[in-house]
Amino acid sequence: MAEVLVFVDHVDGVVRKPTLELLTLARRVGEPVAVALGAGAGATAGVLGEHGAVRVLVDEAPEYGEFLVVPKVDALRAACEAVSPVAVLVVSSAEGKEVAARLALRTGSGLLTDVVDVEAGEAGEAGEGGVVVTQSVFAASFTTRSRVVRGGAVVTVKPNSASVEPVAAAGEVVALEVSFSQGASGTRVTGREAREATGRPELTEAAIVVSGGRGVNGAENFALIEALADSLGAAVGASRAAVDAGWYPHSAQVGQTGKSVSPQLYIASGISGAIQHRAGMQTSKTIVAINKDAEAPIFDLVDYGVVGDLFQVVPQLTDEIKARKG
Ligand code: FAD
Repeated sequence: MAEVLVFVDHVDGVVRKPTLELLTLARRVGEPVAVALGAGAGATAGVLGEHGAVRVLVDEAPEYGEFLVVPKVDALRAACEAVSPVAVLVVSSAEGKEVAARLALRTGSGLLTDVVDVEAGEAGEAGEGGVVVTQSVFAASFTTRSRVVRGGAVVTVKPNSASVEPVAAAGEVVALEVSFSQGASGTRVTGREAREATGRPELTEAAIVVSGGRGVNGAENFALIEALADSLGAAVGASRAAVDAGWYPHSAQVGQTGKSVSPQLYIASGISGAIQHRAGMQTSKTIVAINKDAEAPIFDLVDYGVVGDLFQVVPQLTDEIKARKG
């Protein structure tokens, strides 16, 4: 059976949820073989095996932490030579996309980024790539299906594109032999500073995102958005108008020039739905908007719309959710 490489995103051995989603997608195409690198990589094997990885190729060399992406690209290339995968799946983060692009160039493969679905190609349809992917393009105005026709496909997948499905597999740990290229030590990490913890999930990985826009009308009012987010265990996002006004950090901006999110549920409060905002959230599975203007363009794409003043609707919604949770 064809094998599919899954590049593991982990922090000191704790596997992040988007990697488990990749394993779900990989199993549609072939047998998942995970590649885990850096400190704690070996500790990932248990959970990866519980989610379908037949083998886990591990290298804990310090280079992965000391330098930027090139050592990881060297390792994935070594893994491709060892496995000859039909596809390599990587999480669509900024780093993931850089790793994927460099790997595709090195291996002469086609690259597909920001994918929202992966299927096995029909026999003879999918060229050597063997996978057919779905992407949402041009500010989500079009949905495309694409396949790679040269080399094994290198695919980056947006978080929340698939469910996490526990499936027992061997998860056999195999040491990965990597010889680092000259470029591997070109860019050294000189310092690391932990981000201030909010206790909320990471915006791009969250299953629920609650966002506020210009209608929130001030930094202090974002407490309402945060309270709703906390009642749902959600991440907080913001429109560019809110961010530019200094009401919320730039790291929370959703949209064309901000982050791209694809949660199960996206709640937009006081956001008009400009095309640049839609570009970053339109692939959300269920979209809810709260806006006092019934003509606001955001209502064109919502599953549920509330025409009303967010200062009345959001606190009531938060109270109701808290009451139902008991
Ligand atoms: P507005 O468009 O001003 O909408 C505010 C909404 O709040 C209105 O619909 C109003 O009816 C509603 N409202 C007001 N008061 C209340 C209330 N009390 N209760 C309920 N509703 C209320 N924007 C992004 O978001 N992300 C991007 O990444 C991004 N990138 C851009 C890139 C470029 C090159 C350009 C040119 C623009 C970009 N923008 C981006 C900006 C974008 O065009 C819009 O200006 C922005 O999204 C508007 O933000 P908003 O919806 O919060 O504000």
